[in-house]
Amino acid sequence: MFAMTVVVVGAGLSGLAAARHLTQHGVEVMVLESADAVGGRVRTDIVDGYRLDRGFQLYNPAYPEGARLLDYEALDLKPFIAGARIIISQGGHRQVIRVADPRRQPSWAVPSLTARIGSPLSTARFGAYAVSRAVRSPAALSGEPDITAEDALRRAGADRTLMERVLRPFLSGVFLESDLTTSRRFLDLVLKSFVQGTPSVPALGMQRIPDQLARGLDVRLDQQVASVSAHSVDVTGGDVHSAEGVIVATDPTTAARLIPGVRAPAARSVTTWYYRPTCAPDELADGEAALILDGARRGPLVNTVVLTHAAPDYAPAGSALIAASALGVRDTPAHESAVRDHLAWLYGVPTRDWDVIARYAIPYALPAMPVPFDLQRPTRTSRGVYIAGDHRDTSSIQGALVSGRRAAQALLSDLGIAAPNPAPSESLEAS
Ligand SMILES: Cc1cc2nc3c(=O)[nH]c(=O)nc-3n(C[C@H](O)[C@H](O)[C@H](O)COP(=O)(O)OP(=O)(O)OC[C@H]3O[C@@H](n4cnc5c(N)ncnc54)[C@H](O)[C@@H]3O)c2cc1C
Repeated sequence: MFAMTVVVVGAGLSGLAAARHLTQHGVEVMVLESADAVGGRVRTDIVDGYRLDRGFQLYNPAYPEGARLLDYEALDLKPFIAGARIIISQGGHRQVIRVADPRRQPSWAVPSLTARIGSPLSTARFGAYAVSRAVRSPAALSGEPDITAEDALRRAGADRTLMERVLRPFLSGVFLESDLTTSRRFLDLVLKSFVQGTPSVPALGMQRIPDQLARGLDVRLDQQVASVSAHSVDVTGGDVHSAEGVIVATDPTTAARLIPGVRAPAARSVTTWYYRPTCAPDELADGEAALILDGARRGPLVNTVVLTHAAPDYAPAGSALIAASALGVRDTPAHESAVRDHLAWLYGVPTRDWDVIARYAIPYALPAMPVPFDLQRPTRTSRGVYIAGDHRDTSSIQGALVSGRRAAQALLSDLGIAAPNPAPSESLEAS
């Protein structure tokens, strides 16, 4: 056993992944977290029996790093349909078009070829592009010239209808920006993971993911770190901890404050409302657990879903829970009213008497990933402090987990503990 202690600042997914990796190599780790629970941006509140993730998000079991670290059986992942319900307006009438991966949703295959969501040639070309991403290694993908996601999709053959009715509405909710200026490198990884896995939530909420990672670790809550150096950490109004190494695994803004020279990427923000509908759950979206997207962009929402169609335990028995998300963090009665009207259109039912259970506005939900984008950025800093977080890899659960491992590997290697960095071909595999 090594008598070495490392302090990890932040118990989000990246900090927990770093701590797990270090512990596996016999290093003593103390994780200092400013909040009252682990998870960072992956938290779940329980309100009147409803499980409310702090901002709607999904976990894709195809994430390679997650597959290595997590016990999927214990998470009891509840998959959504590998597709979406696109709502369009045809002659002023609301129409629902189901778009899906025909391999996993064969009964949706025929409508998915309809020209109302793009010409058959365009749809086929896009499908071929997505599959081509899935079979290439991330290292190969990152070797391709970087352009915006929008340019990549057009070059891949997506026509205007497919772009505006399906791809932009869908990807706006993934990138948290609707201009699709996000790097094609991230787009490609997103497509790869969607081809390989079906987005899901743990049966009892997203926080089950960090809770599982934290098991057995020495995590100290309510510890706001004020400053760090290569070998010490100061907690606001409290202790000073000495350590052989320090990993800062906070959100990007705090990391930039704690470590001079680190810059936080621009923020992508989002607001999620949770509603308790008054109609019978089966009346909503034909009982289907699919993301609902507006192919005509008639309101502020980027997506909505009946969470309980996939994960019934997100609500008390017999009730439904709806998540509805809009880009940005506007908070006015007029905006909420527009959200409600939009929901009425998307679900085709009256929504005036639906209850808002909670609203989560998240100013810094994702670090922006503009072109040119490096899939991996250094985890060593000139100050001798190590750094982890989704802003070091990709803005995703997968990226956060990989960044934690990479920071831990760099520190172990500098401490002379045998934990070689992955071979170059492997190093991007996990991004
Ligand atoms: C609304 C939303 C939707 C998302 N959707 C998806 C999705 O569908 N799929 C996906 O893969 N990803 C999604 N993501 C992204 C994913 O959740 C994040 O990339 C990931 O959780 C980031 O983890 P992290 O460890 O890098 O940072 P964080 O989760 O921000 O963790 C940092 C931790 O550091 C702590 N901290 C900060 N300052 C201090 C301090 N001074 N002292 C001590 N502790 C401190 C914080 O409290 C926090 O616990 C979404 C994120 C949000 C917010």
